[in-house]
Amino acid sequence: MRSEPSPMSHTAMVYDQPGKVSVKRVTVETPEPTFGQVLIRLTHSGVCHSDHGLMINAWERYPRPTMVNQIGGHEGVGHVVRLGPGLGDSPVKIGDRVGVKFIHKACRICRACVVGAESCCATMQISGYYTPGTFQEYCVAPADYVTPIPDEVPRHQAAPLLCAGLCALSALRKSCAAPGDWIVVLGAGGGVGHLACQIASRSLGLRVIGVDFARKEELVVRSCGAEAFIALDQTDDRVSPVMKITSGQGAAGVLVCTGADSAFAEGLEMLRFNGVAVVVGVQEGRERPIANASPNMFLFKQLSIVGSSVGNYREAVEVMDLARRGIVKAHVTVEPLSNLQSVFERMDAGELMGKVVLNI
Ligand SMILES: [Zn+2]
Ligand SMILES: [Zn+2]
Repeated sequence: MRSEPSPMSHTAMVYDQPGKVSVKRVTVETPEPTFGQVLIRLTHSGVCHSDHGLMINAWERYPRPTMVNQIGGHEGVGHVVRLGPGLGDSPVKIGDRVGVKFIHKACRICRACVVGAESCCATMQISGYYTPGTFQEYCVAPADYVTPIPDEVPRHQAAPLLCAGLCALSALRKSCAAPGDWIVVLGAGGGVGHLACQIASRSLGLRVIGVDFARKEELVVRSCGAEAFIALDQTDDRVSPVMKITSGQGAAGVLVCTGADSAFAEGLEMLRFNGVAVVVGVQEGRERPIANASPNMFLFKQLSIVGSSVGNYREAVEVMDLARRGIVKAHVTVEPLSNLQSVFERMDAGELMGKVVLNI
């Protein structure tokens, strides 16, 4: 197939005042793909809580504040319109439906990369922070790191899977929970949480306890397969109900899909012997230790705590296959790109349910 004509310039949304919830619509030059890159015509982009975090400079551990006029976004779906030099034999062809993830690019040969931990690669780049992200009509990406999108998965459905779905699958794997085990998902009605409930219950054979605000119970239990639900705004004690549901044992795994300090601390209390707490949510602002994480807590119950930042290339392909088979389906609201400011304001106020995907 011949290259599609692409314009000289296109529309993008930028963080015009990093540190604040503020985006601006601008026109930017459409890039030419360089060696090994493809140019993608983006049609959809999910809006992730991490985009919000990068926009407001919430992550202390990051090397520098977000640049003024950075184009954000890292859950982009579109199709390839042009191949850069060196891609004559590439399996990625013009017209292919592809996705851009949080990790834009990784070296693929360092110790972290070769064991499938590309998010820990020392030279990896993040879409919408190091590189222009997916809140725009066109972007370039490395041909060997874009995610193929199966024909059966609608584009607006594919977008949230590229980050939220990938995070969910990877974190569940790291919990080491086995079929029949209980797993607690803290933040079960959020972007990552609601997909984690689906994958856990429908693909991995786990029994799910969802914890979130009462208004999210319907989504978590009816649509996402959780067996039990604890409304965090209706009780100060979320640990006792978990113990009761699990016959006094505790859960094999806890996914902490929120950045709230209380959630990290409660999560450890919910674990059974040999249990694993998986840190998925990013702590914002000044970094604080987990309140109750004493050495003895881990020693006497042989507990583990593990971090899980997004996931790897292979897991992204696997989560797309789960979507193709109808096992995972994101709860999506589609809005125009021009709504991005309002989407971030609602995210800031904690008002969003499931995922918002922008139609570009
Ligand atoms: Zn994300
Ligand atoms: Zn690497």
